[in-house]
Amino acid sequence: MIPYGKQEVTEDDVTAVARVLVSDLIAQGPQVEAFERAVAARVGARHGVAMNSATSALHVACLALGVGPGDIVWTSPITFVASANAALYCGAQVDFIDIDPKRWTMSVAALEAKLEAASQTGTLPKVVIPVHFMGEPCDMASIGALSQRYGFRVIEDAAHAIGGRYGNKPIGAGDHADITVFSFHPVKVITTGEGGMAMTNDDTLAHRLRSLRSHGITREGSEMEGECHGLWYYQQLSLGFNYRMTDIQGALGLSQLARLDEYVARRHALADRYDAALSRLPLDLPYRDPKHYSGVHLYVVRLKRHSRREVYDALRARGIGLNVHYIPVHTQPYYRKLGFKAGDFPASEAYYQEALTLPLYPTLSEAEQDQVVAAFHKVLS
Ligand SMILES: *Cc1c(COP(=O)(O)O)cnc(C)c1O
Repeated sequence: MIPYGKQEVTEDDVTAVARVLVSDLIAQGPQVEAFERAVAARVGARHGVAMNSATSALHVACLALGVGPGDIVWTSPITFVASANAALYCGAQVDFIDIDPKRWTMSVAALEAKLEAASQTGTLPKVVIPVHFMGEPCDMASIGALSQRYGFRVIEDAAHAIGGRYGNKPIGAGDHADITVFSFHPVKVITTGEGGMAMTNDDTLAHRLRSLRSHGITREGSEMEGECHGLWYYQQLSLGFNYRMTDIQGALGLSQLARLDEYVARRHALADRYDAALSRLPLDLPYRDPKHYSGVHLYVVRLKRHSRREVYDALRARGIGLNVHYIPVHTQPYYRKLGFKAGDFPASEAYYQEALTLPLYPTLSEAEQDQVVAAFHKVLS
């Protein structure tokens, strides 16, 4: 079976990890710090705060921006559940903005209309979380302008988008967002096994993220009152978590980061090959805006004339490991219990009926890709 996604772990990665394993420090330490600095330098952000997952990073990103009970957070229905769950962890309410029918990311027109309505009823969101679905950047300039006009903060869920660019700036540079979150889960663009990172240019936010990642505990003297304490002394200032990344993972991430550009370029080359080979089939192919540079984490097509289930089954029977990204979050049983229902976000629901994710990863060979293409031609003809 050709899988839809797969990590590559090289000899260099193994060497880097093995070196840490036999060292004195294996939990969060110098490797994590080096990884944070390297990612921050690569994407042009002041700070990177590594965590044990992007889900953790989204959670503390919401907390760092003050999200709590009584607040509202908006995201896209076409995302992994973590983008929405992060707000629920904080006791906030979640709502969704339907997708753009061409780009499949958050519709700016729908966002603007919902903001205008919410400003009338006093139900504006505190935070909006646009998701760079498949690695394709959302319209961040417009979302940033709306955040100024309506006074909300922005967390970019860039779990799919490390290595991509918005205009000529790397995603994560934070021109239109307060915090950008990357994921290093094995199916994503680079991996640490499990892991994530929150990027920000704001010193205060970075400080909060670091504190919340580690129990809300500080050893910094400047935050201590009164007399001078011994070196054992620490203070818990807020209710934080243990969301730390290990140095074992940091070393893997640092080693993988060296291949980021090569990986994204390879993903683009394979996506271009799919575009050409599938262009005459009854499919909608994924849109890539030439003004930007996608991370191309996923290659998704929409079936125009065939049943998704039949095509999925027929291709899997031919050894093609397809997947579907994503079941609209608001239709999940847990979210239905919160009051959402089918019909709430029609563009997302129509998208879901037709969507199929094709195999795409840096070590996918052209021969394997040709097998995928041939199977598609057979099944759709
Ligand atoms: C994978 C993913 C996450 C969660 O990342 P983890 O590192 O697995 O916690 C969040 N949002 C999106 C869009 C994702 O694809």
